[in-house]
Amino acid sequence: MKQLLKGGTVVSGEGQKKLDVLIDGEKILAVGEELEAADAEVTDVTGRLLFPGFIDAHTHMALEVSGTITADKFDTGTKAELVGGTTCIIDFATQERGETLSEALAHWHAKADGQSSCDYAFHMAIGEWNEAVSREMEEIVKGGISSFKAYLTYDNRVDDQTLYEILTRVKELGGLVGVHCENHGIIQARLAEVLQEKGNRLDVGDYPWTRPAEAEAEAVARLLKIAKCVDTPVIVVHLSTAAGYREIERARTEGQTVYVETCPQYLVMDDSRYALPDGRGRLYMIAPPLRKAADQEVLWQALSDDQLQTIATDHCSFTPKQKLAGEKDFSKTPCGMPGAQERPMLIWQYGVSAGRLSAEQMCRYLSENPAKQYHLYPRKGVIAPGSDADIVVWNPQEEWTLSAHNQQSAAEYCPLEGTQIKGMAEKVFLRGELAAEDGKVLKANAGIYIKH
Ligand code: MN
Repeated sequence: MKQLLKGGTVVSGEGQKKLDVLIDGEKILAVGEELEAADAEVTDVTGRLLFPGFIDAHTHMALEVSGTITADKFDTGTKAELVGGTTCIIDFATQERGETLSEALAHWHAKADGQSSCDYAFHMAIGEWNEAVSREMEEIVKGGISSFKAYLTYDNRVDDQTLYEILTRVKELGGLVGVHCENHGIIQARLAEVLQEKGNRLDVGDYPWTRPAEAEAEAVARLLKIAKCVDTPVIVVHLSTAAGYREIERARTEGQTVYVETCPQYLVMDDSRYALPDGRGRLYMIAPPLRKAADQEVLWQALSDDQLQTIATDHCSFTPKQKLAGEKDFSKTPCGMPGAQERPMLIWQYGVSAGRLSAEQMCRYLSENPAKQYHLYPRKGVIAPGSDADIVVWNPQEEWTLSAHNQQSAAEYCPLEGTQIKGMAEKVFLRGELAAEDGKVLKANAGIYIKH
């Protein structure tokens, strides 16, 4: 059946125009002025902006980590994404030690298939590196995964030689690597120092000190030097500091191509949250940690100047009860926060409404750029004939209060509890089907796997 969205303003990375959108089944058939179609069901979207479905290129659904599993599996996590306006996520299929990449991939399909309410693709996070894994990468890329992830901290961190070899192999295969940039040695030394000086790690207020801005900056700089030797572009994921950004600017001045992702939490919250009483600071324990107001300003300015490429969530949710694992030692807290549902609202309110970003920039950061960067474009990331009919009907006047009581996430808390929002996804079409409206899911589990 055909559907006609009449009277709205279509937003792209380049501009906004009052255009009608004709949908046929799962695809967009036509975009134009004053479209008519006698056989179409008409939806009046006057006064609304129409964005291409948002893409969240950094999520961790059903991730087993820190001796537990994230509160949001693909079911609740993708419902949160969908109602917020995100119609496609790229989750990290994560290879455990001893697993082949295909085993890891099969494991992630078992978690996601049939349980996702928005479309989903995978990056492959490398947990073990050897000749067999290197060979297997070719098959993974041919099978539809063109992006990989490496960590410079945590147990599955890679050393410099491994990083060089991974970058070289992925370059050969035509893919891209995203890297978590924090210096492991600094973090471990500071965690030991806290214990030595205080006799315990009870005070969450010490957490950001154990992961300083310099730890991010050092790892960004090292990554970029290694990438320069390999002569390949790379992605710095969840950039959080001004110091890290300076290293990226320096590398770019020397001609390097560096893609940068940041996340709403690094733009709208600062490290004062770690001083909250009653252990509530643990709810904000993420890695890298929340930073200073001065870092936020640098990130906003870089976004405003089109110097970053994508804004993703790093949605990785744990309940307050799960966070209690760090009650006696904050380093045992599972790190991560929910943010899937609120990402577009926060970028609208603190970016577009605050005058820092245009709606076109919001479209680029949340949809067009991730689609292009991860080879989903033009199937995703644009409202154009032939593209998937993933459309967000954005109502700039609709109000919402961020709260654990009305959110889809199973995290049982909302980091920005009580924040009043003006401007949100009113209707969300997933491949032509009205799948969410006013914060409620209308059509669950309709997401499909997308190769890229
Ligand atoms: Mn992450």
